[in-house]
Amino acid sequence: MAFPISDTKSQVLSTYHGHPVFECSKCSAVIALQDEVISKAFSGRDGRGYLMHSATNLKLGKKEDRALLTGVHTVADVYCLGCNERLGWYYMKASDSTQKYKEGKYLLERERLVKNNNWELE
Ligand SMILES: [Zn+2]
Repeated sequence: MAFPISDTKSQVLSTYHGHPVFECSKCSAVIALQDEVISKAFSGRDGRGYLMHSATNLKLGKKEDRALLTGVHTVADVYCLGCNERLGWYYMKASDSTQKYKEGKYLLERERLVKNNNWELE
């Protein structure tokens, strides 16, 4: 099975120059483009969460079946590549057909991220 994120990466990427991004609140690694947000109305484990199309600089933890508010999902926690902080999880599979749109997406905890709008001063 191929995952979009390899857990063997050791280098933190610094991509997305000039784009608004989310960064890890602990180590400032770039985690995702703000444009990749699907929904800001999700619940994470510790509070509000963002559903994201894609993310980077993450490694996947162990896959497990988790009973969430919207039913049982097969998820894997995701950890920051820079500091190993748990930032959310990756949806591998949803048991309920109405939840299938989450498969292959990320849930990132809002409290663990900081916004960097990469505004350039003239
Ligand atoms: Zn980090």
